[in-house]
Amino acid sequence: MKYSKLVDLYEYLENTPARLAKVEKIGEFFREAEPEILEKVALLVQGKIFPSYSDNEIGIAEKMMIRVIVSSTGFSENEVVDTFKETGDLGLTVEKLMENKKQTTLAIMQLSIEKVFENLRKLASIEGKGTQDTKISLIKELISHAKPKEAKYIVRTAVSQLRIGVAEGVMRDSIAGAFFSWDDMAGKKEVISIVEWAWFLRPDYSEIIKIAKDSGLDGLKNVSVEVGKPYHVLLADRAGDMVEAMEKFERPEIEYKYDGARICIHKRDDKYWFFTRRLEDITKQFPDLLEIVKRGIKSNDCIIEGEMIAIDTKTGRPSPFQMLSQRIKRKYDIGKVAKEIPVQVNVFDVVYNEGKQLFSETLENRRKVLAGIVNEIPDKFQLAESIETNDIDKANKFYQSALKSNHEGVIIKNLDATYQPGRRVGYWLKVKPIMETLDLVITGAEWGAGKRAKWLATFVLSCKDGDNFLECGMMGTGIKEKGEGVTFDQLTKQLKPFIKTEKGKSVSISPKIVVEIAYEEIQRSPNYSSGFALRFPRLIRIREDKSPYDADNTERIEKIYSKQRGRK
Ligand code: AMP
Repeated sequence: MKYSKLVDLYEYLENTPARLAKVEKIGEFFREAEPEILEKVALLVQGKIFPSYSDNEIGIAEKMMIRVIVSSTGFSENEVVDTFKETGDLGLTVEKLMENKKQTTLAIMQLSIEKVFENLRKLASIEGKGTQDTKISLIKELISHAKPKEAKYIVRTAVSQLRIGVAEGVMRDSIAGAFFSWDDMAGKKEVISIVEWAWFLRPDYSEIIKIAKDSGLDGLKNVSVEVGKPYHVLLADRAGDMVEAMEKFERPEIEYKYDGARICIHKRDDKYWFFTRRLEDITKQFPDLLEIVKRGIKSNDCIIEGEMIAIDTKTGRPSPFQMLSQRIKRKYDIGKVAKEIPVQVNVFDVVYNEGKQLFSETLENRRKVLAGIVNEIPDKFQLAESIETNDIDKANKFYQSALKSNHEGVIIKNLDATYQPGRRVGYWLKVKPIMETLDLVITGAEWGAGKRAKWLATFVLSCKDGDNFLECGMMGTGIKEKGEGVTFDQLTKQLKPFIKTEKGKSVSISPKIVVEIAYEEIQRSPNYSSGFALRFPRLIRIREDKSPYDADNTERIEKIYSKQRGRK
């Protein structure tokens, strides 16, 4: 199939914001695509060459792409960089330059989807000496045969910024529409939920599209989790308070809510895999955990879930989340950090055991299976702390003990509920202390990228410290692109007159605008001048009524920090 056909689709999608129209057009394309390239097309439409959970990346940095464009178009580096500055998009840069190119290539080979896919895949597999040159030549080969529009999308795919607005939901609906039909809205909903179910268990649309085409709805319904491959986990909802949560279930089970990372542990014979909730494979980062689970799991073939937390070696208490995050990100000296930051896993669920999926089993039954296959190793690998009760006083006591032990709160679970992958369906309700909001001052920002390039998109937050302002976080959420609430446009307009200096994409801003900020937690941090960092800060509103000197100060942040989770 010609790559130009896919490019026509990309163009349509880029210029058509309407979701339904996108879904129909992609569905049509899937229906018409030859079976042999369907899987490739499913990935390319998402701007991918590998499923999102894969470790494989095309790995072309902006700098390298600029070199490729220089050598493929014959323009100077300055010309390429200037066009990039003007467009903010390397795809548009190459398109524009190629359109302006004086000499045209004579014999242009028609690019096929297979060829583009093949070269891009090769990019990811090249390692070692001379890597850069080989990578450059692979993209260059494609660009030299491409028309300007084709080059635009090749470049965008290679730098992993396709920008055509095809999110997971659009893919799901397009696959549903391409291969199935329905009589009414209820029928449509059902088909979509079947596609979604399959995708939750096998999060790769290139696999799902093949099953949909070859084996239909029954095939999708029968998709199962695979040991060694990640799946989308059940998610928790938030409850207002303990009473509200307890009233929801006839038979509630209350568990400590540990503040770490969800971990799915897969085991088959002597092979183990660790996946995060975001489907990343983190097995290599945790050789210490591997030794623990080898002793801690009795089943030969299972997938169990738990929360991994980092432990402070001095106090034996849970460390802040960022310690664990360091371990997850770490790619070298793994043995050393494993000693410095040991981990503990508190297991709470099992979704597969000895050849049997357990999604349709109740939590009560799953817990029984779990208890039967876990060999607890105190403080290293254990069942999550839990009680079964309908008594609100007992539940509250349990909640307080969770906070005292430095945990985040509790999760109230319905013992009679099944396991719904990928969804928030109210089977688990989290209760944790609500953080008071903070009024902070914006003292810096960064210009956005892509369609946000014209706006300031992330903002430096500062608190008052005497007569100074000290940084305590970066915020980019809670702000809208359009519609009600505070928009990027509005914030940019308000802040622009106060910009003091600009350096690359960063600007420093005089402390004038006060914003009310919600957040999940305050952490100690050497990265900000206040010594504190807000975790997941989110804009609530602009405090037009407050001057920067009415903003919250470091003392208040310190006070909230020390009150968090029974630190006092
Ligand atoms: P949140 O991330 O705030 O939506 O809370 C849900 C997350 O809490 C889960 O994805 C787990 O990573 C984590 N968690 C900690 N303890 C538990 C527990 N006992 N049961 C389930 N999830 C837990």
